[in-house]
Amino acid sequence: MSRVQCNCCGSDQHEERRIEYLYSRGGEYLLVPNTPVEVCLNCGMVYYDATVLKEIERRFFAIHAKSEEPDRYINMPEKSYA
Ligand SMILES: [Zn+2]
Repeated sequence: MSRVQCNCCGSDQHEERRIEYLYSRGGEYLLVPNTPVEVCLNCGMVYYDATVLKEIERRFFAIHAKSEEPDRYINMPEKSYA
């Protein structure tokens, strides 16, 4: 990751963090704990690395094609506000 300036506020203060990323596509979900991201320390904007997102997408399709096993399954209730 080599982002110099925040697209949002122009700050060059950022740090790498690990978050839980929820990938969703077509009503299917993949929760990815420990996803590396960069966070702007000034405005809190979160940046995902393109290669990280690609890998998450690859795993999502691999799991749904049953060629890869997820670590575990969780039940996730969801209710829209609107
Ligand atoms: Zn920022």
